[in-house]
Amino acid sequence: MKIVRLFAHRVDLPLVEGSYKWSGGKSVSVFDSTIVGVETSDGLIGYGEVCPLGPFYLPAYAEGVRCGLRELAPHLLGMDPRELGKLNSQMDAALKGHPYVKSGIDMACWDILGKATGLPVCVLMGGRYGESVRLYRAISQVAPDAMAANVASYREQGYPRFQLKVGGDPDIDIQRIRAARAVLKPTDRLVADANTGWTQHEAMRVVRAVSDLDVYIEQPCLTYEECLAVRRNTALPFVLDENIDGLDVLLRAKQDLAMDVVNLKISKLGGLTKTRQVRDLCVSMGIAMTLEDSWGGDITTAAIAHLAHSTPEPFRFTSTDFNSYVTVSTAQGAPQRDNGFMSASDAPGLGISPRMDVLGPRVVDIS
Ligand code: MG
Repeated sequence: MKIVRLFAHRVDLPLVEGSYKWSGGKSVSVFDSTIVGVETSDGLIGYGEVCPLGPFYLPAYAEGVRCGLRELAPHLLGMDPRELGKLNSQMDAALKGHPYVKSGIDMACWDILGKATGLPVCVLMGGRYGESVRLYRAISQVAPDAMAANVASYREQGYPRFQLKVGGDPDIDIQRIRAARAVLKPTDRLVADANTGWTQHEAMRVVRAVSDLDVYIEQPCLTYEECLAVRRNTALPFVLDENIDGLDVLLRAKQDLAMDVVNLKISKLGGLTKTRQVRDLCVSMGIAMTLEDSWGGDITTAAIAHLAHSTPEPFRFTSTDFNSYVTVSTAQGAPQRDNGFMSASDAPGLGISPRMDVLGPRVVDIS
């Protein structure tokens, strides 16, 4: 089996809530997603998706996905898409860095491996653990009372976990955290995710001001060292996200006891193959994980479900169902939230079929 064609579609994903706001005044109202297709000599087609959280979150941007595909595709034609280690080696040899560009191709090749073997991706990634995957809801940054009302509303829809977008004015963020925690039950989990938005002294003030609450603190500051300083001055459980972009920093963070949970995003790490490696290492080292991506629609959500469902339950801190945040469905067969949980498909591969009428014309097509 050989790769004979790589192509991509561009899809706009408007948000159900109209916009999504997080630290530092960053905001997106329509996400620009790239659906990647890999076609084989056997006639199989696998699909992946890459959707950066705008151009100002991680070092990634939507048009970069498409440019990167044009750069990489000629190096991958003729390769066997089922040989995922070799495929990733070839991508790294042909293009240094740019993990998000490689993510959609790798995801599509997992889809092909599943279709070729008749197995769902979660089985190929280690096995299906448990019945379903517990979800969190990200709560866009607005005024404290409005955020608390949104938490209460999504709790009514069955979500047991919440990620509060803070990282703004620290005094208002303290109010946001207190207001949100006040509407939750003791068994609910609340994460205050600053997305690198606080300076170190601001973060120190916030963690002290909410030290009586049951709340996790996620990625308070820009650098690893700043986060470590905050971590060493609080007893609150701690999550690292933006800084954990590869094995070196993960191993350093484990050595430093710099966090209790890490957030793994498929495109931040360069695809399912590399995320699986980091995931498996976290399991071996006893570190729980938020398993997700930066953003996306149905195909990203399917990939998250397979990644999470193939992770032993004690290490699955949470995941999210991005396809429920957006107004456009790009594929049939994607996981649908059921009372705060989702499940990976039992169908071969990712278990999705793209809605070609939604995807529109190909914007990359290389054979
Ligand atoms: Mg985060």
